[in-house]
Amino acid sequence: MSKKIRLSKCSISQEEHDAVSLVLNSGFLGMGPEVSKFEDELSNFLSCNFVSCVNSGTAALHLGVQALGIKAGDEVLVPSVTYVACFQAVKATGAKPVACDIMMSDGALSLEDAEKKLTKNTKALMYVHYASAFNRRSEVLEFVKKNNLRLIEDAAHSFGCYYANRKRIGQDYDVVCFSFDGIKNITCGEGGAVVSSDRSIFEYIKDARLLGVKKDSVARANGQRTWDSEVEHQGWRYHMSDINAAIGRVQLKKIERFGLLRKSLSACYLSEINARHVSFLDIDYQRIIPHIFPILLSSESKRDELQKVLAFNYIETGIHYKPNHMLNFFRGKACDIAEKFYKRELSLPLHCDLDQDDIYKITKIVNEVCG
Ligand SMILES: *Cc1c(COP(=O)(O)O)cnc(C)c1O
Repeated sequence: MSKKIRLSKCSISQEEHDAVSLVLNSGFLGMGPEVSKFEDELSNFLSCNFVSCVNSGTAALHLGVQALGIKAGDEVLVPSVTYVACFQAVKATGAKPVACDIMMSDGALSLEDAEKKLTKNTKALMYVHYASAFNRRSEVLEFVKKNNLRLIEDAAHSFGCYYANRKRIGQDYDVVCFSFDGIKNITCGEGGAVVSSDRSIFEYIKDARLLGVKKDSVARANGQRTWDSEVEHQGWRYHMSDINAAIGRVQLKKIERFGLLRKSLSACYLSEINARHVSFLDIDYQRIIPHIFPILLSSESKRDELQKVLAFNYIETGIHYKPNHMLNFFRGKACDIAEKFYKRELSLPLHCDLDQDDIYKITKIVNEVCG
């Protein structure tokens, strides 16, 4: 029987096992020295002073939105084609996520549609780096400035990417959120981080991740707790544990290698797929660290057929994502392009335990089915 090729997975070696063992043997498993060191290393990597580690990407988004003062009665523009985490994070603050359409060319937010969805209650825009790309980022920045909106960037797919002049995603605007869940570019097991260029947002988030207890993050970093506590705002149990941070610290050292691998696997897909009825997204895969590899098929039936044939050959694929406005809890007005995209999209396997032979096997089937 042939081995199963998974859609995405983490890539773990003995080093992560050893790092976790050290934490377990230390007898301290909560948020302590490992989290502090991971935050310092992330700050250094992203060239950004203000990094707070949390226990998921979803928690990062929730705290990010809350820290910008978004609340009940407010509206936040979100592309409909994204992980449901974005919609739930906005909803958790009491605000309303407003589903916006996307561009067929790259699956990312359509600013033209976002403009149509503006109301007097619109307070922020959540910009999702779909498939690690951020093609119209400068237009997005102009749009939020012009309309006096706050910006939350969901960079769950784009950790480690450069966007300009050797500047990494994560340093220059309101709030940028990363995920380190089990399948992301680097993993902590579960984890996330919120990055901001604004000290006051950073300090707010540091308290909010620990039930809103003032300066408890600072105390814990020094191996203490705040017993004479004060709370000024809503907080959550969202901090990261030393076990997760220990995994993340090892993974961060591998990001360069992971990035090169993901780029070369993507390049292999681009050169090997020659089917006439397959199109690629308008993304420069050599400029990013590709997190997923979406292709667009000519029709829904072709997509379903290809997915079935690949599954028959033990090759797992994904669909990123069912538009959120089609979900009962977030049901909203139609977004035509998002719905078309959803029917035609298929994500091919991409992770660091794949090799070129795996890609040849996959692309041979794609070419046969879609030739
Ligand atoms: C993974 C992901 C998230 C949420 O991160 P978790 O760590 O799984 O909570 C949010 N947005 C996108 C686009 C993601 O891929």
